Amino acid sequence: MLYFDIRAIESQAQPVHGTLPADDPIWEEGDPRPQPAVTVEGRLSVAGQGRFYFTGHLSGSTVVACRRCLTDVTAEVSDEFSALFAEPGLDDADEDDVYPLAANARTIDLRSAVREAWLLAVPAFVTCRDECRGLCPTCGADRNEVACGCGAGGSDARWDALRALRDTQA
Ligand SMILES: [Zn+2]
Ligand SMILES: [Zn+2]
Repeated sequence: MLYFDIRAIESQAQPVHGTLPADDPIWEEGDPRPQPAVTVEGRLSVAGQGRFYFTGHLSGSTVVACRRCLTDVTAEVSDEFSALFAEPGLDDADEDDVYPLAANARTIDLRSAVREAWLLAVPAFVTCRDECRGLCPTCGADRNEVACGCGAGGSDARWDALRALRDTQA
């Protein structure tokens, strides 16, 4: 549950213990989805007239492709994040890092803030293991599985061309 009653926040900072599941409609095409949900812990408090501040932590796991061999890898995601929500008409209500509230909003919906923090926290480059040998750039074989032979014996024709160039310049 990531909706919070503004009146309740105004009377007392509200603890946040919520989850954002992979099937929530807030996710967009292409987002790395959590498996099965992002867990959010923190608190929502008043940050001045018409402003509310969340600070806390998100965690979860997601499946991303190894950047070398494209195998699915489970990545653990964990990060601190904060978000400022503001009612319309305030000086900073339209700044980039402020989540605008509707004019008569009674609740704060944390989902967009959680989604954006999650997207920033998911690692962009993951390898399945340090020694992953990746795919052969010549034939596409997974070099963790097979020795395709492209590198051994005869060398890649493209390198021959470079070598010839280097030899003529030497
Ligand atoms: Zn790999
Ligand atoms: Zn190869």
